[in-house]
Amino acid sequence: MEHLERDVVVIGAGPSGLTAAYELSKAGKTVAVLEARDRVGGRTWTETMDGATIEIGGQWISPDQTGLYSLINELGIETFERYKAGKSVYLNEQGEAIVYEGEDFPVAESTVAEMNKLISLMNELAAQMNPDKPWEHPQAEELDKISFHHFLRQHSNDELACNNVGLFIAGGMLTKPAHTFSALQAVLMASSAGSFGNLVDEDFILDRRIVGTMQGVSKTVAERLGEGIVFLNNPVLKLEWFDGGVVAHGQSVTVSAKKVILAIPPNLYSRITYVPALPRKQHVTHQHQSMGLVIKVHAVYDTPFWREQGLSGTCFGPDALVQEIYDNTYTGESTGTLVGFISDAKADAMWELDEEARRAAVLKGLAAYLGEKALDPKVFYLSDFAAEEWTRGAYATSYDLGGLYRFGPAQNDNVGPIYFSSSDLAGEGFQHVDGAVRMGRRTAARIIATLDGTSYDESYDGVQTLTEIDQKVSA
Ligand SMILES: Cc1cc2nc3c(=O)[nH]c(=O)nc-3n(C[C@H](O)[C@H](O)[C@H](O)COP(=O)(O)OP(=O)(O)OC[C@H]3O[C@@H](n4cnc5c(N)ncnc54)[C@H](O)[C@@H]3O)c2cc1C
Repeated sequence: MEHLERDVVVIGAGPSGLTAAYELSKAGKTVAVLEARDRVGGRTWTETMDGATIEIGGQWISPDQTGLYSLINELGIETFERYKAGKSVYLNEQGEAIVYEGEDFPVAESTVAEMNKLISLMNELAAQMNPDKPWEHPQAEELDKISFHHFLRQHSNDELACNNVGLFIAGGMLTKPAHTFSALQAVLMASSAGSFGNLVDEDFILDRRIVGTMQGVSKTVAERLGEGIVFLNNPVLKLEWFDGGVVAHGQSVTVSAKKVILAIPPNLYSRITYVPALPRKQHVTHQHQSMGLVIKVHAVYDTPFWREQGLSGTCFGPDALVQEIYDNTYTGESTGTLVGFISDAKADAMWELDEEARRAAVLKGLAAYLGEKALDPKVFYLSDFAAEEWTRGAYATSYDLGGLYRFGPAQNDNVGPIYFSSSDLAGEGFQHVDGAVRMGRRTAARIIATLDGTSYDESYDGVQTLTEIDQKVSA
């Protein structure tokens, strides 16, 4: 067993932990990162399958995600625009595929009007929220008492409009049924992306991709950290903590440090044995943050055949098995890749089937929108983060009904030398790589201020790097 002494030990080499370690190291602090898996990147992960680039985890970046943009600019990593040209397809309640253009779904005018009314309401509520402090929203307590499902129906009698608007946050983002999380949690999701309007605009929220891969961002940060910093295959299952510091016990490495950053998803905090145990508040809070569940479907074809029919590959079906589909062909590849999503209860049903039946059902789900050619991909792969011990769901964690208002205010408090950093605790960029980066930088800034006995600027949003801020102050 190797023993190390460092200023800070980071548990988890996803984008949040690695960004924190990078900032700490640039500020002259010594760090070690202990990672359970045999790779860095966490919920960002890429493999090449039969010559096609498959982004198994997080991949898109939107224009407001300036925390992530500033990191990739610093690393010299570029982006490319997702393929967006052509018409979209909507699968209606009767299972008919309707080709349409523009922002509005091809539904009755009255339903479009009701959807726009609900979207305006969500925009108003999101504009009143500071995503870092959703529990301070003027209606926070009231909004956290009602499920998003019932909130929508409180404001509209149009079932289809409620279903369609619900899809954007429920299946589309939190990947939980809309009756299991609150309206406050839904408003946070919108506010974290700037507005509900941004969330429902797929050309905004799924704007661009990383040249290379999203996991490549973490790989590059790990390379910049250099040798002897990141230790793979080192799950931390025991953490001793006391006034002056911590001892983190990995599989082959033990690290004594002044501070520790838990850069793991909140649903995994209880996987670690704390000595002494964490305080009551954290014991209770951590039980109310749970992972959503979504299957990311990847199907690669000889060509992007839908483009020949003037289709963008973008498809929506609030009642369909595969609720949304996009053209996910990597820039320059001659093959055509579709990505689709199957959320929550529908994902449960898919995992109940045997492999052959599941493949047939999912491909039928793609073909319902794009025709028979979708039935015969050369690569077919389902992202299964729920089966991954060190994630246990997808995309991310959120509070159950009433949890955000009750437990949220303390979620980012440190417990002595223990700090928490995750995309799932972020305001801006919540549940996204951008939020992971912002949280990593903000947590590093808090720790540096404590170690150096300087003050920490609460309003720091994690966009500028700490070195950039230092350079400004000294200029
Ligand atoms: C299928 C999918 C699609 C997504 N799509 C997008 C997208 O398009 N755009 C976007 O911005 N975001 C997307 N996301 C979300 C994004 O990937 C996450 O928000 C981001 O990766 C979170 O970063 P993190 O560092 O906070 O946590 P993670 O990425 O989860 O990293 C945490 C790390 O901690 C490690 N770990 C856990 N427990 C321990 C332990 N006890 N000891 C040591 N190590 C441990 C894990 O192995 C992991 O490497 C997606 C996520 C999924 C799953």
